[in-house]
Amino acid sequence: MRNSDLLTETSNRTLDSGRVLHEELEIPLTPGTARRWIRANDEELPELLSAARGARDRFKVGVITYSRKVFIPLTNLCRDYCGYCTFRRDPGQSGAHTMTPDEVLAVARAGEKLGCTEALFSLGDKPERNFSEMRETLRRLGFRSTLHYLEAMCELVLRETSLLPHPNPGLMSTEWISRLAAVSPSMGLMLETTNNALLAAGAAHDNAPDKIPARRLRTIEEAGKQGVPFTTGILIGIGESPDDRVDALLAIRDLHLRYGHIQEVIIQNFRVKPEIPMYNWPEPTRGEMLRTIAVARMLVPEVNIQAPPNLSDPDYENLLDAGINDWGGVSPLTPDFINPERPWPHLEQLKQRTQAKGFELRQRLPVYPEFVQPAMGKSTLLDSKLNAVIGREGYARSAA
Ligand code: SF4
Repeated sequence: MRNSDLLTETSNRTLDSGRVLHEELEIPLTPGTARRWIRANDEELPELLSAARGARDRFKVGVITYSRKVFIPLTNLCRDYCGYCTFRRDPGQSGAHTMTPDEVLAVARAGEKLGCTEALFSLGDKPERNFSEMRETLRRLGFRSTLHYLEAMCELVLRETSLLPHPNPGLMSTEWISRLAAVSPSMGLMLETTNNALLAAGAAHDNAPDKIPARRLRTIEEAGKQGVPFTTGILIGIGESPDDRVDALLAIRDLHLRYGHIQEVIIQNFRVKPEIPMYNWPEPTRGEMLRTIAVARMLVPEVNIQAPPNLSDPDYENLLDAGINDWGGVSPLTPDFINPERPWPHLEQLKQRTQAKGFELRQRLPVYPEFVQPAMGKSTLLDSKLNAVIGREGYARSAA
């Protein structure tokens, strides 16, 4: 039986029976049950997905969200060398670039015209620590570090446009989380994994000092202490086991239980590319994606679960069968600079495929409706810009 057949049958079974058959799938899952069900066999998969959909529908019924964004790759210089990355460059390498303030503003203004409400700042981690060229670029621009420059560019976009920044700068200190929270309603850092073995020679995070799991957890925890709405997630298929996926999700869940600040958990699948060190690694299967999403949904049933549609094309709409309630950032303007070979779906197509599954597609802000209040009060500029774009029920005012 093909996966798509399985999913159709699951939907029917759910509609017919309207109940979950397996007592083990009580929500939230225990760690042991999560480890058992992330390995569900093909016969068990429909039941797992049915339970996950039930959890999603109790959390948010009938609505799937996305954030209409522009992608601003502030600098692709990075001091890390992750084995799956095509984004990063060394100075002098073809395509190496640090955007100027004019370039940042031009992209943001173009996005504004297309109804975007998010400026996603994605950038390499602390390149100035390794590269004198980046130190020189920053000196010319008038900033002491990449994070100082990022802060200024977030403020520029916030001040000059109606877009809300969402920075993803890598590890952040207590001070930097606080500073960036004054110019952005949310921020993000993928946990990716909690498996330290991936730091070993030849593994995905060999020579990636900013990917030490404990350091990433510390950043996420610090954001929690400060009440900053935070996006994180895991990357599957980079050498971790199914148990590792559960462990990473449990680490996120534990931080969320303590601080209540995780607005979104992304389940991202590794995609192979010819130019990366991991060019001959197998990609995770759709079945692994569905099982991981379903288990995530049932470990953190009241957190938004997202999976990027462009990394699961074709048939990305089947991810809805596993309990996601968000498609993440989708841009009508800029490519996915992290996965440039995988274009984002056209927004009309995304809408139609989401509707065909029985959901309304709604445009959200980079901060989810239930996290708008925690994002407020950190600066008058941010408050006024947020108030200007928030519409009905906390979604984007120009929602489409
Ligand atoms: S994934 Fe991020 S941290 Fe790793 S090399 Fe690429 S830009 Fe740097």
